[in-house]
Formats: sequence, structure tokens, C-alpha cells
Amino acid sequence: MQATLLERTTTSRSGERLTPDTRLPDAPPCFHLLAKPSGSTCNIDCKYCFFLSKEALYPNDKHRMSQVTLETYLRQLLESHRTPEVTVAWQGGEPTLMKVEFFRQAVEFVEKHRQPGQVVKHTFQTNGILLDDEWCAFFKQYHFLVGLSVDGPRELHDTYRVDRRAQGTFDLVMRGLDLLRQHGVEFNILCTVNAANQHHGREIYRFFRDQLGAKWMQFIPIIERATEQTIQLANQGWSDRPDHRRVLYTQTGNLVTERSVGARQYGQFLMDIFEEWVRHDVGRVFVQLFDVTLEAMFGRHLLCIHAPTCGLGPALEYNGDLYSCDHFVEPGYRLGNIHETHMLTLIASPEQRKFGLNKRDSLTAQCKRCEVRALCNGGCPKDRFARSHDGEEGQNYLCEGLALFFNGSRRAMEKMATLYRDGRPPSDVMALTAIEDKRRGPYAPCSCGSGKKFRFCHGDHASRA
Ligand code: SF4
Ligand code: SF4
Repeated sequence: MQATLLERTTTSRSGERLTPDTRLPDAPPCFHLLAKPSGSTCNIDCKYCFFLSKEALYPNDKHRMSQVTLETYLRQLLESHRTPEVTVAWQGGEPTLMKVEFFRQAVEFVEKHRQPGQVVKHTFQTNGILLDDEWCAFFKQYHFLVGLSVDGPRELHDTYRVDRRAQGTFDLVMRGLDLLRQHGVEFNILCTVNAANQHHGREIYRFFRDQLGAKWMQFIPIIERATEQTIQLANQGWSDRPDHRRVLYTQTGNLVTERSVGARQYGQFLMDIFEEWVRHDVGRVFVQLFDVTLEAMFGRHLLCIHAPTCGLGPALEYNGDLYSCDHFVEPGYRLGNIHETHMLTLIASPEQRKFGLNKRDSLTAQCKRCEVRALCNGGCPKDRFARSHDGEEGQNYLCEGLALFFNGSRRAMEKMATLYRDGRPPSDVMALTAIEDKRRGPYAPCSCGSGKKFRFCHGDHASRA
């Protein structure tokens, strides 16, 4: 009988082909692996980027994925999937540190190992600095979806996103974006929310929409954890400098650096954007958290952070080491190496399943009785280092902001869900919101719950760019 996808083997680096374990009843049909072909190495020096410190996991090594690891990775990824669509997701560090040739080879390996009927999508997260015509023509040719990291207009972006001489990178990133647009490459914007830009949600959103022409965007909170022992060094940053004692970042400690976003501020940032989006841009601009929240109204959880359980987003280092999650690339969460054990065996391992189920099983009593639990699910375990109202450990540091966002957006989300069930486009919510705004009048409290008058808060249409 021909070997099935789930056929077990235990061979090793000898070059014999590894296939997944036939005895894996719990193997997931699909997962979203993030591959780091140049490890955590980067060509810039963002102040909040604790991934820079992960180079210390593999000292004295070149941090470049070999052809053998590349092919092994892609073959195992494709044969592990039992869904017709597979995403090949590249990130870093900075993946453009590998040359275009490396990714041409990757596309060839995908074609070589693609199963009949499998559709493969490539995504690529970059800081944009090294983009040129060759990169952009390549992305266009193979339909890559490129995520570009931008933290807002120049001043906000340049606060933390700096090069090794501490110079802002805004101009270089904009140059990269222009090239992506010239070549017609599909792109989205990844913006971190941090101490410097946390009060500028609406301004940043308008900048992305109106100046950069972005149709897809996501906002990721910066939370850099530290202990009493490490906080001083952590505040200095994570990169390797001759005069700088360096800490390997791990998800420990209940302090945060001064660059981290505040909990309430994160929620307000999201609400600022939501109040603008729900009045002008539904169906036209796609904000990841808004999309997944609407999906969650139907019980579909597309983002691990707000799903009941997780564990399907492992990270692959350049040498084949597989970790439980991109946020847990640290010794205690190394599942194994794909040259020694098939990646599906590692992902279906009891260890990784426990990692994923722990998200649900470690919820605090406050989360369990929370009215927005079905949408929030306690957030990401890496952020659960605060105390709940009851004094219980393990509450999400962002809880106040998450509650603010999920409660604040809920009425509009429910309206969109109802519209959808009735066969109408969710974007009709904009007309319903306009009617409500008119009825409320300019001097009533704003719908966002800020306590300010609507006119001076989110009803300020006159200042719309
Ligand atoms: S630990 Fe957080 S980021 Fe990682 S898979 Fe779980 S929810 Fe997602
Ligand atoms: S909003 Fe707070 S209490 Fe509610 S589920 Fe999220 S983290 Fe838990």
C-alpha cells in the first residue's frame, strides 16, 4: 500500500525521508507556521524588538537556513496539511537578509512537493528597508502578500524603529512601500501599538488609509516583560552592543518596559480606530482585529490570541528547530528539530497540545465570568502576568483595554452580524450608525464611552482627512 501522509517513521538527518506519525489521531488538519530563515537577525535595531535578543540562543552560528532545511521544511509543511489551502509564512528577524534566490528556490520546492489540488499562498513580513525592483517583481510574479511594518507617520514611526546608528527608518520604509505599489504587490500594514503612539489611533489609521493607501492593517500591542532584576537592562533595549550587557528575552516577569503600551491606552487606541472605521470604512478597509471579532460572533476564531485554545502557530528557526509559538522561542518551548522528528509529530505532541489547551484551562475566574469572554477568551497567555480583580495571578495585562474594546464595539458588531444573517452587507452598519449619530446629537456623550461630548470626540467629522 502506498505510504499515507500519516505514516510514521523515525529516521534522522541521514537524509531518509521523514513522514508524519500514523498514530496521530489528534493531528490538526492545518496550522500556521512562521518560518524564520535568517533566525532573529535583523538589519535594523528597533528599540522594542526583543526578538533581537534571540540571536543569543544560537551563539557563533550564521543564522541562515540551508537548502536542505528549506526543502525539508516545505515538504513536511505541505504533506502535513489536510486542507486544500496552505500558507507559507516568512518572517524574521528580517527575511530579506536572505537573497531573492533563496525564495525562488522555495517556490520551486513548493511546486515540487505540492500535493494535487493544494493551493499555496506565500506571506512575507518585512521592515521594507532592503526592498528593490528585483524583490518587488518577484513578489508580484508569485503573488506574495507582503506585510510591511510601519508605526505611523514619520515622528511616531521613528521613535522606536531606528537603524543601528539610532537614525529613524521612515524614509527607507516609504521608499520600499512605493516600490511595492509601483509593482502592484498586495501589501498590508503591521503597526505596533507602543508607549509613543498609543494616543494617536485615529491619526495613524487615517495616515495608513489616506496617505499610504492601505486596505489591510493590523495593530499589535508592544508588551516587553521584565523582572525586577532585568528591568533596567530591558529598558536599554535588546540588541547586541559592545558596551551593553544583554538579556535573553523570555516571557517572564510582571513588569513592563517604558516602551510598552498601557492596558487602557491599548483599548482606547483600538476604539479610536473602530469609531472611525464603523462610520466610514466597513467593507473598504480591513482591520484584522475587527474582522476576527465579527467572525467570533459566529463562533469562528481566526486569530489565536482571541481563540479559546491555541498551539497551531509554531515557529521554525533557521536550523530546523521548532518552537511552540513565535512568542515562545525560548529553551523551555523547543519541541524538537524537523530533521529528527516530522513537524506534524511535533505539532501533535502531548507537549504542544498541552501548550494550546492551557490557554483555556488557565483562565482566571474573572475571565470565566466576563461578559465578553466568547470574543476575548482571555487574550494571549504570554500577556497573562497581572492579577485579576479577585487577586488571582494570570490575568491578562491588557484586560482593561480588551474589555474596553470588546464592550465598546459590541453593539455595532452585533448589528453587523444581524445584517449578515439577514442577507444584507455588514457595511450597512454605517448607515445605521449615521442615523444613531443624528439622533444622539453633537452634545450628548460619545458612543465610545469616553464621557466626552460626541462632537468633540468621534463625531468630529469636520476634521476628517
Ligand atoms: S501563545 Fe499567544 S501568540 Fe502564541 S499561539 Fe498562543 S495565543 Fe497565539
Ligand atoms: S476582557 Fe479581560 S476578563 Fe474579559 S475575557 Fe478578556 S482578559 Fe478576561
